[in-house]
Amino acid sequence: MKLDSPPDTNYAFGYRTPPESGSAINGHGETTKRRARHVFHNATGEKLSWEAMDDFFSYINAWGVVRHILANTWQLRRQDGPVASAKKDVIDPAAMAEAIKDKARELGAGLVGITGVTEGALYEGCEAPHATAICIGLPMIREEMEHVPHERAAVEVMRAYRVVSRIAIELSEHIRALGWPAKAYGNPNSTEILHIPLAINAGLGELGKHGSMISKEYGSNFRLAAVLTDLPLAYDEPVDIGVDDLCLTCRRCVIDCPPDAIHETKQWVRGEQKWYVDFDECIPYFVKTFGCAICIEVCPWSEPERGPGLSETLLAKRR
Ligand code: SF4
Ligand code: SF4
Repeated sequence: MKLDSPPDTNYAFGYRTPPESGSAINGHGETTKRRARHVFHNATGEKLSWEAMDDFFSYINAWGVVRHILANTWQLRRQDGPVASAKKDVIDPAAMAEAIKDKARELGAGLVGITGVTEGALYEGCEAPHATAICIGLPMIREEMEHVPHERAAVEVMRAYRVVSRIAIELSEHIRALGWPAKAYGNPNSTEILHIPLAINAGLGELGKHGSMISKEYGSNFRLAAVLTDLPLAYDEPVDIGVDDLCLTCRRCVIDCPPDAIHETKQWVRGEQKWYVDFDECIPYFVKTFGCAICIEVCPWSEPERGPGLSETLLAKRR
């Protein structure tokens, strides 16, 4: 994708007194493991340091974005519900996992994987209601996303969040009808869990230098939702598609990020070395440009049909 001149990084808004650094809240530079803390986008009602910026982001949303957020919030009232009294026995968790994945695909999922809920995927002070996560990915319409950073792409992002939430909700209803508890998590109400660590463990893809996930099928051009459940299911393994091999030499997202927010090298974050985007540099631009998303769309993995061949070449080179 070729990026036409994006808006500059002069801001007509900002904090008179800057809040606590979002990167500090995120644990940038920390070598000891700890859970993540909320910093932005949070529906818990908890007062957050960057709340004013988050509110401002909401106020300048295009009507097309608001429409999808309202519809998604409304449908997510069905995220949990009564469980059928007759419980289906599960003798073979691997077969049940395949049946659940088939159901997710039938409902429209582009990607689906299953994993256990770990400490690293829970926000500080939160508990998971169930032990297993079914992670679901839905591709966005590339022709719309090629308009980043623009309202048109923002509308597509929220449409994808709305649809992937609907898939998670219907999958959770299907599991509850089997007599097992299940709760769906979509974009505006994922207050307990972090989707990316779960989806990486579930084998949907790997973390890229731009701080977002990269899948072989859709690059970074997809959005996530999840279902947490106690239904006995076999777990998937994380995948190695060669993301690090390319990110170590590629600089495309670093060059194209207007506020220079993307670190060139892996950073310590809450006791783990990983790719990291500077929150304090990214978020003001992200807000100014209706969710930006330049980095995920310029990434070569996001070119349609390119991922499988790219992965094969990178893994062959390593051998
Ligand atoms: S643009 Fe290049 S460096 Fe950035 S995430 Fe994609 S492959 Fe990695
Ligand atoms: S979303 Fe953030 S990191 Fe990505 S290009 Fe935009 S400002 Fe940079």
